[in-house]
Amino acid sequence: MRITSFEHSVARVLRPMRLDRIKHKIVAFALLATLIPSATTAWLSYTQNRAALTEKIVEGLQRASRQAARETDLWLKDRIYELRVFGASYEVSEILDRGRGAAGRLTDYLRSVKAKVDDYGELQAWSVDGRLVATTAATPHQLPDEWLADIRQDKPVLGRPVWDSTLGRPIVALAVPVAAGGGRVVGALTTTVSLGSVERILAGAAPTGTGTMLLTQPSGLLITTDVGLRGELRGHVVPEAILEQLQTGDGTVASYEGLGGEPVLGAMSAAPQLGWSVIAELPERDAYAPIHRLRSITMLTVAALLVGVGLLAYLLGLLIVRPLTRLTQGAGQVADGNLGVDLPVVGGGELSYLTEIFNGMVERLRENKHELDERAELLRRQNAELERLSITDGLTGLYNRRHLMQTLDKETLRARRHEYSYAVVMLDVDHFKQYNDSCGHLAGDDVLTGIAALLRECIREVDYPARYGGEEFLVMLPETDLEEAVRVAERIRERVQTGFAGDPERRPVTTSVGVAEFPIHGTNPEAVISAADEALYAAKQQGRNRVVAAKRGPRRAVKKA
Ligand code: GH3
Ligand code: MG
Ligand code: MG
Repeated sequence: MRITSFEHSVARVLRPMRLDRIKHKIVAFALLATLIPSATTAWLSYTQNRAALTEKIVEGLQRASRQAARETDLWLKDRIYELRVFGASYEVSEILDRGRGAAGRLTDYLRSVKAKVDDYGELQAWSVDGRLVATTAATPHQLPDEWLADIRQDKPVLGRPVWDSTLGRPIVALAVPVAAGGGRVVGALTTTVSLGSVERILAGAAPTGTGTMLLTQPSGLLITTDVGLRGELRGHVVPEAILEQLQTGDGTVASYEGLGGEPVLGAMSAAPQLGWSVIAELPERDAYAPIHRLRSITMLTVAALLVGVGLLAYLLGLLIVRPLTRLTQGAGQVADGNLGVDLPVVGGGELSYLTEIFNGMVERLRENKHELDERAELLRRQNAELERLSITDGLTGLYNRRHLMQTLDKETLRARRHEYSYAVVMLDVDHFKQYNDSCGHLAGDDVLTGIAALLRECIREVDYPARYGGEEFLVMLPETDLEEAVRVAERIRERVQTGFAGDPERRPVTTSVGVAEFPIHGTNPEAVISAADEALYAAKQQGRNRVVAAKRGPRRAVKKA
């Protein structure tokens, strides 16, 4: 009971999903059994791979920014060293130490240095009290206000980067102290340096592909990038919020809107010598492209698995369901009474075993039905025989009296309805007692059988011959009037008389016959028979071996018992 109610509740849930069919159940199960583990595994491997890839991206960005910052610092160190070397030359230190004269020679020297070093712009030599002693150009270099104070303390000074429209790239002013003998600072040598080399450093360190490297001042003002500084980027300031995000780098990378307006991942490293910072950026789209590719491949693999397994499950379902469908249809045919069903047994297993059992059952049913049919046929024949016996007389084979009365009742109803007449001919063997007495009872029986046969010969197919009593016969002639009936009666009487006359050993056999007609002589069977009986009696009275018709005219109806 409990199991049945459990099955009912499950069926109620499955039916709306069309899962009440075995084929659908198999497909649904196979899909779930594939989807759950494969999707779980795929998701796990996807998240792990994503984490690993993200780590790789972070490392790449951090390495790029660190490397570029270090190399830029080194580049500056080299420039300062180089400039100090030029400043230490005799022409510079000596002339600046003397303070006066020889400015022409110093200018020539500066010109020769400028020509020698590609990165240098104009060169200027200053006295320690800030007087411009020699220069290759008219405009003084842009250096911080208190730059000479640093120079006097033997420190190099770096100016703010500015855009050089002639070079088409940013430049920065650089000042180094010039020392005379004993290390005494006697002046300064300044120059502008193009940041082209720094751009090349940035480009060399840039993360592959679509990565961007930015060089910024502490304020966030963009100095240059790995591909130079396009017009619209001049004066661009990296927002403070982004700078903060980049500075609090805790092993991860910051995610924000990049220069091109698209979301980027970035890492920042400081170049301590310069006080500048290098930001390495990678568009998120490209950074996560392998992850997205991985996700697509994973989803495609799961989908392909589902399609494959679904197809296999569908075929399996067909294999299982086909024999079941055959069995169901076979059972339906048997239920409809068709026992000629013989299902094909394919392969092995439970279903073919079940099919064999089914075929065996149908075979047995067939045999039983055949046996039953035979018995029914026998019974039918026996019933027919019984029926025949119940309505016929055992000796003569004519209808018996009981059946005669039933037939007369029916015929009377019919005749009344259709308003036609019928006649009865009543026959009695003359002196039959004597015949029995002299010839024996068996010979008497033969006479009765013989009369029955003669009777049949003398009447039509539709007429109805019966044995009314011991040696009395009655023939009912449908749709026949008295006159015609008398003719038939006469023919019978004659046939009997001549029929038994051939045997000299035997006594002659004659009959007396009475004839009456419905409805003239009676409106019910008993009345008509009674009229015929009276006519028969009259025939006996008149000397036997003759036919007498009932008297015409209405007769008193004999009431039915
Ligand atoms: P009637 O001419 O007046 O009819 O004389 P009857 O001797 O025929 O009349 P009755 O009614 O006195 O006798 C009828 C006889 O018919 C009596 C009986 O022995 C005989 N009988 C009746 N049924 C059978 C039968 O089945 N077989 C034989 N052999 N005789 C029968
Ligand atoms: Mg009699
Ligand atoms: Mg008689």
